[in-house]
Amino acid sequence: MNAPNPPLVPGTVSTNPFPVENGELVVGGLPLSRLAARLGSTPFFAYDRDLISAHVRALRSVLPADIDLHYAMKANPMPALVQTMVGLVDGLDLASAGEMKVALDAGADPEELSFAGPGKRPAELWQAVAAGVTINLESPRELEAIVAAGNALGVKPRVAVRVNPDFELKASGMKMAGGPKQFGVDAEQVPELLASMGRLPIEFRGFHVYSGSQNLKAEAICEAQVKTLDLAVRLAESAPGPVRMLNLGGGFGVPYFPGDRPLELLPILENLRIIAADAHKRLPEAKLVIELGRYLVAHGGIYVMRIVDRKVSRGQVFLVTDGGLNHHLAASGNFGQVIRKNYPVLIGNRADTPPEEEASIVGPLCTPLDILGDRVKLPRAEVGDFACVLLSGAYGYTSSPLQFLSHPHPLEALV
Ligand SMILES: *Cc1c(COP(=O)(O)O)cnc(C)c1O
Repeated sequence: MNAPNPPLVPGTVSTNPFPVENGELVVGGLPLSRLAARLGSTPFFAYDRDLISAHVRALRSVLPADIDLHYAMKANPMPALVQTMVGLVDGLDLASAGEMKVALDAGADPEELSFAGPGKRPAELWQAVAAGVTINLESPRELEAIVAAGNALGVKPRVAVRVNPDFELKASGMKMAGGPKQFGVDAEQVPELLASMGRLPIEFRGFHVYSGSQNLKAEAICEAQVKTLDLAVRLAESAPGPVRMLNLGGGFGVPYFPGDRPLELLPILENLRIIAADAHKRLPEAKLVIELGRYLVAHGGIYVMRIVDRKVSRGQVFLVTDGGLNHHLAASGNFGQVIRKNYPVLIGNRADTPPEEEASIVGPLCTPLDILGDRVKLPRAEVGDFACVLLSGAYGYTSSPLQFLSHPHPLEALV
């Protein structure tokens, strides 16, 4: 951890991407203590603009040119970060009208935006139609509201169908397709929906299939992508027009936990190359898209807390910090984990000191769930030191119960 790490190359991402200078992590070119002074208080999330940009550029440069790369904003919708992403990716995926506003404010082209999510409210659909973004239809009811909005506004809504496929993404942290699901329209019901779309004043765009998240098995991702193309080709036979967009989903996972192996990117790139060539023949007008959230932004983010107390309870060391699960629920193990495991943690101002003791990093909340590092090997840390959680660029600030116990919210900075 002493030498600055080389720029991130997809598939070979290191756990700690931040250089170390005089024992301190350097984030966005600033040693932590300097960054903390600049921000004025701890705790905070910091996102390293150069690291994230280099990572996304590196991925974009190895993806086949005819595959579009989209950023799924819900992973981290911080406006300044989204603005950076707009210049790096080919489009954004939105999950609410609120995200749509941030995307449009950031200068995104509405034609490169798509909006998915069950239970879109009539007002949100109205806004999306007015904006001209592609709406990934999740039910026949949404179609009615979209048509009504299009008629009232005098615009032709862009509509794709989000399909709940008849297969699942194996080995996923979160499965979002296959079997009964609240997401998308069941594949077997799609032909009927497509038939009704043919009679309506809408612009048919194509299909969106999102099978799952946080997957570290390249083989499973490749298999789902192949099946997605096959499914789209089958459904295209009932479509009211040519398929112009096929969103193959994403699911690229991040190796958060001890023993996790980073996703192997090469087989996926090779598979995408084959799929792109195949799609060129079978769906000649279709633009292929993959949509990634955490894979693009997790590594470049860090959550930084100040240690406010050091306690020893019956032989166990507790480092009590000014942050906690109210800021970073995922790192506490309560956001999508079954068995609690530690995110990578370290003492950010003693990053070149070898581990000397076992300690637990906890927050100030009155709940035993408020653990950010359970019995981890660390250098001996004192009050005033920085306790840091790595891989925190995704699903941190906006995925956490910020009001829980009424503590101040953390800061966010893009540096
Ligand atoms: C959540 C979500 C994503 C992003 O998931 P990651 O695991 O962050 O890559 C992409 N697409 C859809 C439809 C989603 O719901």
